[in-house]
Amino acid sequence: VRLPAGLLAGLVLAVAGLLAAEAPAPSATPAALSAELRATAAALRDGALQGTGAYELVRSLTTEVGPRLAGSPGDKAAVEWAVRTLRGLGLANVRAEPVEVPHWERGTIEGSIIAPSLQPVVLTALGGSVATPEAGIEAEVVEAASLEALDALGERARGKIVFLSPRMARRRDGAGYGRTVGMRGAGPSRAAKLGAVALLIRSVGTSDDRLPHTGATRYDEGVPRIPAAALSNPDADLLQAVLASGRPVTFRLVLRSRELPPEPSANVIGEVVGRELPEEIVLLACHLDSWDLGTGAQDDAAGCAIVVEAARRIAQLPRPPRRTVRVVLYANEEFGLSGANAYAAAHAAELPRHVLAGESDFGSGRVYELSSRVAAESLPAMDEIAALLEPLGVGRGNNAAFGGADLIPIRPARVPIVGLAQDGTFYFDVHHSPNDTLAHVAARDLDQNVAAWAVVAYAAAEMEPRFGQPPADPPPAGR
Ligand SMILES: [Zn+2]
Repeated sequence: VRLPAGLLAGLVLAVAGLLAAEAPAPSATPAALSAELRATAAALRDGALQGTGAYELVRSLTTEVGPRLAGSPGDKAAVEWAVRTLRGLGLANVRAEPVEVPHWERGTIEGSIIAPSLQPVVLTALGGSVATPEAGIEAEVVEAASLEALDALGERARGKIVFLSPRMARRRDGAGYGRTVGMRGAGPSRAAKLGAVALLIRSVGTSDDRLPHTGATRYDEGVPRIPAAALSNPDADLLQAVLASGRPVTFRLVLRSRELPPEPSANVIGEVVGRELPEEIVLLACHLDSWDLGTGAQDDAAGCAIVVEAARRIAQLPRPPRRTVRVVLYANEEFGLSGANAYAAAHAAELPRHVLAGESDFGSGRVYELSSRVAAESLPAMDEIAALLEPLGVGRGNNAAFGGADLIPIRPARVPIVGLAQDGTFYFDVHHSPNDTLAHVAARDLDQNVAAWAVVAYAAAEMEPRFGQPPADPPPAGR
């Protein structure tokens, strides 16, 4: 069938019109990021996906240093490792800025259900827990399903061991942690106020292995300090099942932890010095300390390897970015944010020149979302950075980023913040447990994280103008 020429021409024009309508309309506002910036950022991104040195950094820190609890010999070895490593990678201005850290020693622990039948269990002290008397503590167990239920025990808690039994839910974004970790922090003092003699919690973790998860607790002033420990998930199940029988359950706990004098530690810092505005800083954070049960491979050797490797790749560009990229490996995040508080105090004068800050502290899971906390006028630039991460499978989140625990002390200075949310579906299987070792770190996932951080850090250091400061946080509710 031959179509008349006029009809054919009309069809061609109609198709062309449809195609034109689907093409992006020319933007009324110019792109926030230059074409050159976007090309360099894309090259950083795609280069990292070909393989990075991040896994080797995790291997080195976790096998040559190992556990590095604040105040321990491992902590000091980690500081030396970090200074040596950052210098070896070619970062500039590498230094260790002194931080005083608490020094708590876990010691040994034994726990058993002794009535109605003898059942030794697997448990570990919560970080900072006081010891039991030499002979241990033996008392009846009373269960509570929440902190509110604990408070409601009233006189029934007196002389007892309180057991907080809720289970942490597995969620990609780690939201289950936020809903249960409060019991670990506040449980001991809430129980002690009622006259309890010790506190047991179900581990704040998602593992079904017979391994406990530790983590910091804190004691309120003016309340007796009682020993506190976490049961492995299977042992928490066991204790719940025994309690469900309705017969009195007696538990025996022997815990020999020690509080020692504070020790010197350090925030370890390295930089890529900016070529035009070296006094303006893009801060990439992680924490160098770890809990002592594993080797802190996910928490947070992975985060340190990711940000250090991202900075190293920026340092290797033919031309450094306009601003300085600074990596800070913080001291003692786990047991009181010592390094983060010291940094905020020592660098108070230059916080207004921190143009963006982000922390990698969620293991090695792949990044799936970018969130931010910047001035409204800076959102188009942040959206364009997020678009550069789309090939990594990263979407755009909201403008209410948390950013990381080590950034808490610099939030009042209204430092712009970026968060790269990682898949945490399996993170809490190993988090703070003896299972947090190199075996659970995947090199390819680290590379994807490096790709994302390199893009974000480079773009923030190169773009014109800098990110505007976000509004102040609302004041905390109550006292
Ligand atoms: Zn951490």
